[in-house]
Amino acid sequence: MQFDFLIIGGGVVGMAVAYGLLRRGQKVIMLDEGDDVLRASRGNAGLTWVQGKGVGMPRYAELSLQSSDAWPFFASELSERSGVPLEYSRQGGIDICFDVQEAEARVANYRKLQASSPYLARYFQWEYLDRRALLTYLPGLGESIHGGTWSPHDGHCNPLLLLRALLTASLKMGLSYHPGCSVQHLEPNRAGFTASTLGGNCSAERIIVAAGLGAKHPLPHAGSERRCIPIARADPRNGKNASDIATSYTTDKANR
Ligand SMILES: Cc1cc2nc3c(=O)[nH]c(=O)nc-3n(C[C@H](O)[C@H](O)[C@H](O)COP(=O)(O)OP(=O)(O)OC[C@H]3O[C@@H](n4cnc5c(N)ncnc54)[C@H](O)[C@@H]3O)c2cc1C
Repeated sequence: MQFDFLIIGGGVVGMAVAYGLLRRGQKVIMLDEGDDVLRASRGNAGLTWVQGKGVGMPRYAELSLQSSDAWPFFASELSERSGVPLEYSRQGGIDICFDVQEAEARVANYRKLQASSPYLARYFQWEYLDRRALLTYLPGLGESIHGGTWSPHDGHCNPLLLLRALLTASLKMGLSYHPGCSVQHLEPNRAGFTASTLGGNCSAERIIVAAGLGAKHPLPHAGSERRCIPIARADPRNGKNASDIATSYTTDKANR
């Protein structure tokens, strides 16, 4: 069978990209190390958080806010397609401060962020709550807490259910999923790329490397003799979307 995309890595990024491609009618094959490998997607807190994101990088803060706004629809659509509840909730979040210095720095950072982006100035809602105000939300607050920032945008889901839902929905849409297939080597060829695993080879015209920290292993072979590294400055304002960012690698040493 011919595939439009080969995705290496079935963590939350690879699964989310697969889900998006399959929704658009693309044929996708995924090679993943497997469900029992301890990677970030299986050990994170599941926060769909806006606070604290993008300080010093307003576009990241804007994207975090837009993502958080997109989550309610995404969660309900994904649950419906997969039959898996995500335990998603968006009741706002509190980020505590231990002392006055931390509180002042937090407030200054958020004001600066809003001053640097009309979008954030308009839509990023937050407020500083002193210890007394915070106690109404968190009655068991420890003595050492000075206060904290509250934002209505913050939420959370169950990260393991999210992963299961993405896989279940993607399988229903035709994902060819191969766990236990660690890509050892990635080679460019005339038709695209060939990924080698201990169980055999797999080729596709386009690949998306979403192997998290594991990307260091298969990637260096894909770009001739030079090492490949992620482009930290991949920027959606330049027309890049999530899948572009996942595949944006450079072999240009000058860009390291
Ligand atoms: C402790 C902790 C808490 C976090 N809390 C949050 C949070 O609350 N909210 C949030 O949004 N983010 C959180 N994060 C960050 C988030 O977990 C990561 O950004 C995200 O999981 C990265 O997903 P990924 O798919 O890129 O990588 P990974 O989760 O690393 O997945 C990569 C996948 O690729 C596979 N793979 C690797 N190498 C190969 C290979 N050679 N061949 C085939 N497959 C391969 C792996 O088996 C794995 O399945 C947290 C991270 C940590 C560590």
